[in-house]
Amino acid sequence: MLFKEFCEYLKGLEVTSERLRMISILAKLFKELSPEELQKATYLLLGELWPDWTGYPELGVAEKMCLEALSRASGIPKSELEKMFKRLGDIGRVAELAMQKKRLAALVAQQLTITDVYDSLAKAARATGPGSQDLKIRILTGLFLSASPIEAKYIARIVLGTMRLGIQEMTILDGLAQAFFGTKEKRPIIESAFNKYPDIGFIARITAEKGEDGLKQIRAKPGVPIRPMLAERLSSPSEILMKIGGEGIAEYKYDGERAQIHKTENEKIIIYSRRLENITNQYPDVVKAIKEAVQGETFIVEGEIVCVDPDTGELRPFQELMHRKRKYDIARAMQEYPVKVFLFDCLYLNGEELLEKPYPKRREILESIVKTTDIVELAKAKFVKNSDELEEFMLKAVEDGCEGVVVKSLSNDAIYEAGARGWKWIKYKRDYKSEMMDTVDLVVVGAFHGRGRRSGTYGALLVATYNPQRDMFESVCKLGVVLLTHN
Ligand code: AMP
Repeated sequence: MLFKEFCEYLKGLEVTSERLRMISILAKLFKELSPEELQKATYLLLGELWPDWTGYPELGVAEKMCLEALSRASGIPKSELEKMFKRLGDIGRVAELAMQKKRLAALVAQQLTITDVYDSLAKAARATGPGSQDLKIRILTGLFLSASPIEAKYIARIVLGTMRLGIQEMTILDGLAQAFFGTKEKRPIIESAFNKYPDIGFIARITAEKGEDGLKQIRAKPGVPIRPMLAERLSSPSEILMKIGGEGIAEYKYDGERAQIHKTENEKIIIYSRRLENITNQYPDVVKAIKEAVQGETFIVEGEIVCVDPDTGELRPFQELMHRKRKYDIARAMQEYPVKVFLFDCLYLNGEELLEKPYPKRREILESIVKTTDIVELAKAKFVKNSDELEEFMLKAVEDGCEGVVVKSLSNDAIYEAGARGWKWIKYKRDYKSEMMDTVDLVVVGAFHGRGRRSGTYGALLVATYNPQRDMFESVCKLGVVLLTHN
């Protein structure tokens, strides 16, 4: 398809905010594209070149670079375009106007196709190293030289990620269902494949090429994140138990970052976040520990990464994981903010997808492949069959530094519902933590060597109270030490 024709659809989508209208425009567009074009078009509609989780580079073109390319293609000085951009605040409009007013005769009469535009942008994205900025500008200039004003408008918006068509992945899935299955009511068939393999372009292509059968054959694959299953919430233990058939497994609900950990065929460990970002670089310690603790040629396991106090081993609030988000000096962050990972599910093992297996079976498989280490543990779990047991376990979880518990159904239909929030998992949180109601006098009777930030000084202190009957100091708890810096 010519890019010019694609732009007409974009124009139509831009002027409507009505979802049904959007879906029918998309369906019409999708039917006119070849499967290869369809794949590329779906990415462009979302303003991307591939899913984020692939870890492939982003386009990396800033406003200034885009204006430079527009200036080269139109012959209008960059300073003039910059003023225009300040005034209009929309790169698309600037590109459109620049091409309308262009002072250079068109040298190339080539008509752009969707494939031309996508492939050129992909090439620009892949350019790295010295000279890559200039190459990106040259590629963009080439595109603008061949573009009509309206084409330039959308190219510029794609490049700067300002498409803002109000189209989400689910709108595209609706459009695909309408185009290839005749009605958007059939979206669930496409959506369940997408939940296991969240690459919109790939899913679109399979839908067009192989239809329902092709979609049903899509399997989870290590290296491709699965959209995570989420929990519903209830605030009464009896209601929870009633909802899941009278009994279930309560698991500690750790307060950290969800981690879906994959071991691929080439033995690479990859960690994906709940939002499917590749966060492997933040956790070299977890990668190493998983290699030692989890058996299997290939697997996908899920758990929660939590910060722990290096001195007391206590769980720390999830905010401390922020320190792992830095780009540099992860080694220091690793030492200062050590973590543990508590595994709670197994979604794939040695070539077999386990999503359809009931939860007790998945947990059994998980237990059979995990060897507990200093860093890797299984989420603490307890079979509960009445409210008192559940309440007691929840309070214990809170005491141990968790948010509460997640109660999981044991029934045969308790499959892993990728991408869905359902009643197979119900969270039960204590929204406040128990706090000391009064002050107490304690005596320091011991101290621990500090580690990480506190190395060379004391870590935790051991404190005690005096028991006059026994004439003894009986230890009460460990206390973390707050470091104060003096200037
Ligand atoms: P919420 O974010 O409040 O909807 O709670 C769901 C989140 O709890 C999940 O996405 C996980 O990150 C986290 N979580 C912690 N422990 C568990 C567990 N044992 N089972 C399932 N999810 C857990």
